[in-house]
Amino acid sequence: MKQLLHLIVHSLYTHPEIFLRELISNASDALNKVRFRMLTDKDVFEPDAELKIVIELDQDKQTFSIEDSGIGMSKDDLIDRIGSVASSGTLEFVQQLQQAKEKDLGDLIGRFGVGFYSVFMVTDEVTVETRSADKDSIGYRWKSSGEGTFTIEEIDKKTRGTKISFKLKDDFKHYSEEFAVKNIIKKYSNFVDFPIFIGTEKVNTVTALWQKPKDQQSEEELTEFYKFISNDFNPPLGHLYLNIEGVVNFKALIFIPETAPPQLFTREAFEKSLHLYSNKVFIQDDCKELLPEYLRFATGVVDTADLPLNVSREVTQNSPLMVKIRNVLTGKILGFLQDWAQNEPGKFEKFHKNFGPLFKTGLNADFANKDKIVELLRFESTKTAKGEFTSLKDYVSRMGDEQQEIYDVTGESREQLERNPNLEYFKKNHIEVLLFSDPVDIFMLSSLNEYDDKPLKSIEKADLDLKTQKDEKTEPLNEDLVKSLLSVFKETLGDRVEDVIESKRLVDSAATLVVGKDGLDPQMEKMMKMMNKDYSGAKKILEINTAHPLVKNLSRLNIADSTDPLLRNCIVQLYEGAALQEGNLNSPSEFVRRMTEIMTDATK
Ligand code: ADP
Repeated sequence: MKQLLHLIVHSLYTHPEIFLRELISNASDALNKVRFRMLTDKDVFEPDAELKIVIELDQDKQTFSIEDSGIGMSKDDLIDRIGSVASSGTLEFVQQLQQAKEKDLGDLIGRFGVGFYSVFMVTDEVTVETRSADKDSIGYRWKSSGEGTFTIEEIDKKTRGTKISFKLKDDFKHYSEEFAVKNIIKKYSNFVDFPIFIGTEKVNTVTALWQKPKDQQSEEELTEFYKFISNDFNPPLGHLYLNIEGVVNFKALIFIPETAPPQLFTREAFEKSLHLYSNKVFIQDDCKELLPEYLRFATGVVDTADLPLNVSREVTQNSPLMVKIRNVLTGKILGFLQDWAQNEPGKFEKFHKNFGPLFKTGLNADFANKDKIVELLRFESTKTAKGEFTSLKDYVSRMGDEQQEIYDVTGESREQLERNPNLEYFKKNHIEVLLFSDPVDIFMLSSLNEYDDKPLKSIEKADLDLKTQKDEKTEPLNEDLVKSLLSVFKETLGDRVEDVIESKRLVDSAATLVVGKDGLDPQMEKMMKMMNKDYSGAKKILEINTAHPLVKNLSRLNIADSTDPLLRNCIVQLYEGAALQEGNLNSPSEFVRRMTEIMTDATK
């Protein structure tokens, strides 16, 4: 806890006012919760209390307090939620904090729920006094200096809700000045749906931004609103406003963030989803039903008048209304991205870089929108520079008249892919090949069989329709020699391979492994092996380049003596070399031993 405290205090040093935003946001959450509970439960403590936030400042004593009439906390809440910082994720949080760049800190703090803790930036000791909305609740006082220990005592608190008070450290005494605090509230919290008072003066303007007509939503308001709901320090990359009337009715403000969370595929990355309101009344801030998983990066607000007011979470989870809203939202967001792709390439590129891997998973999940998703996919190819991308549409427009298929290859990185011998034919003939090096690509490929009536084809498959190449300089072996050599290869390799054939695709390399007609993509196979140690994979076809000097030499040895150990060793070595290049070599020590033997032979 000490370490955490130290980290938070020092990392957030450049944004000390964050504590205020966090406290107001917690108070606002607490008020939202009690308002929501009162929709269905009239039996709460103090049902008629005004829903508000009151801040008291004392410049002489250097003190600050914030009080809300929200849901309050029970003793257990105090211990579990306030007393232990994001208990389960604390360690992970500390690690991420240490790695994070400064601009990501706000993100992390919000995501891991150490919001309240930020108060220890500006004070050495905090007092929380609270009484929950349960009918027979009692009051508690919690005190802590943030280093892991705290005290709790029962108190006689007359009102519902929570009061948090503390004395400011000298460095931060300006937070007891009305002017300073007012400015921060204006900046961060103008969207809180409850009045905020400093003393008796109301300091925020309560407006639901999404209820205003589009032309009255200023860029600045939108940005501040985004920061408020997302805990992001940066402005959003863009936003989309919707006012839908018809089969469903709702208004929505949807934002696309400028940066991606550190781990795109974890649950925590997008803990909070869209905020759902029913006619301006807050329902919940993590309404996952409103967006398909692959669009989870979008944040914002959906406000619908179509929900019954006594909604519960169960209702929102199973409601056909949610499905309808999700369908409309999905279509609109995809359209919005398509618009970026056409008219704002800079923004689209950023979006793609940040969220592309997540977005791609939509192909496997959202069949109804598959065509739209496909148009938004971008890939590296042998005709793009590293880090640049092409759409499938552009790929197809570059296809030569003869080319009937879209070619692709999967691997771990661009560098590794470019060394793949199976690319040689394509490079030589200037045929573009898509380079798939994102782990998600393999799974995506299972849903991407064709585009524009042209099948996608792995260049590692054996049944490619390649024109035999005529090379002036190097004559391939004649048919009989090839036949005889192939049979020695087959005999030597036995059931290690499905077949050995003459290659049409190799230019510089002597041999390569390709996948048989029914085999899996090599990357996929590697994944399967990682998941299941016993999985051995399907056998491959070895292709040999009969124009290669080594292969010609082997043919010579073969004519002299087909049982020559050097010939046999070289055959196995060629095969294992090809396996190594794919990352599928099973026994490196055997490989090295054999190599040493061959070198000894060669240097005699
Ligand atoms: P987060 O708000 O991200 O959950 P915090 O550290 O800010 O993380 O708060 C932890 C928890 O403490 C909240 O989720 C809430 O349950 C409780 N809490 C904090 N402030 C209040 C408050 N003013 N009223 C009621 N509960 C609160």
